[in-house]
Amino acid sequence: MSSKNKEDVKPLSGLNLAELEEFVQSAKLPPFRARQIHTWIYDKYASSLEQMTDLPAAVRENLAHNAKVPLLELQQLQVSKDGTRKYLFALPDGQLIESVLMRFADRKTISACVSSQVGCAVGCTFCATGYLKFKRNLTSQEITDQIMAMQRESGLRIANIVFMGQGEPLLNCEEVIKSIHTIIDSVKIGGRHITVSTSGIVPGINRLAQEDLPITLALSLHAPDPQTREQIVPITKKYPLHQLIPSLRNYEKKTKRRLTIEYVMLAGVTDTVEQAKMLADLVRDLHCNVNLIPFNPIQDDQGKDLYERPSRAAQERFKKIVERSGRTVTIRLERGTDIDAACGQLHNKVLNEL
Ligand code: SAH
Ligand code: SF4
Repeated sequence: MSSKNKEDVKPLSGLNLAELEEFVQSAKLPPFRARQIHTWIYDKYASSLEQMTDLPAAVRENLAHNAKVPLLELQQLQVSKDGTRKYLFALPDGQLIESVLMRFADRKTISACVSSQVGCAVGCTFCATGYLKFKRNLTSQEITDQIMAMQRESGLRIANIVFMGQGEPLLNCEEVIKSIHTIIDSVKIGGRHITVSTSGIVPGINRLAQEDLPITLALSLHAPDPQTREQIVPITKKYPLHQLIPSLRNYEKKTKRRLTIEYVMLAGVTDTVEQAKMLADLVRDLHCNVNLIPFNPIQDDQGKDLYERPSRAAQERFKKIVERSGRTVTIRLERGTDIDAACGQLHNKVLNEL
């Protein structure tokens, strides 16, 4: 290696083909080298330039002065009893994010949960990421390299992606949309296997509808009545339900895609019989599936326990009432709770432990 600064060495993983073409041009290499590098990164999970053996040795050596493969640096890996793997990654500027790889016993395919921002500005009262506060948006490359980094580390092929890690994807719309194109075209995960989850950012939903991607949009509804929703999802004040629901209908009409309605069950706050009936009324004429998420325990920034998870019986009672709408209702199977990898538990805890 030369004496170049770390910042001058360009990470290539996570770039799309056009960006790799730009890079090889700047490195004064013939255009076909971009396709070769692309194949090594995305099809063969290469983690270094040395592995790219169809590039002449002299070319590889030269490139190593200016470029490297991985963007993210693995800081910590935790493996749950259920096989879930939680990754703590450092970004080039030292900020930390988490990503999760999940295996389900009843499914052959592997799913991964990616982050779209460092922290989150929405500040939902039941979510650990909300307590981290917003730091910055991730680039498309930083989003895409989370998937490649997990594949490189585990050797496993990821089949489904959910944007349910840290951050609000639709407050980082352009980079998220760009990353979805790279995930479809380069990582080769079909749009039908990608889900974007949002707390209800109306302009973002409208923007996504224009893009006409065959992905699933999941709305984190969490409460059918405006008062409760305002309390637990503060962005409701900016984008109230009476604007949000029409934007979902518009999305549905434009994309012809079935939505997912996510609903966190907080004992005594969102799991009453009355709320179940209101939720059933609301989803009756939406083209959607309903996914109930029993609250995963987290603490606030003072270390105080927040909320309680409803009993199994209360969860089932709620589900039965919502099913009267005719919609398919499922209770989310949690993965990795023992390593704080389940929904809403991502908070870069290592920070506190260092
Ligand atoms: N910001 C996006 C996506 C990330 S959160 C969103 O809010 O939709 C992914 C899902 O986990 C959301 O539905 C979120 O509300 C839910 N969630 C957050 N904290 C949780 C917790 N403590 N227990 C259960 N689900 C939680
Ligand atoms: Fe942000 Fe989603 Fe957590 Fe709300 S639930 S604070 S939107 S990451």
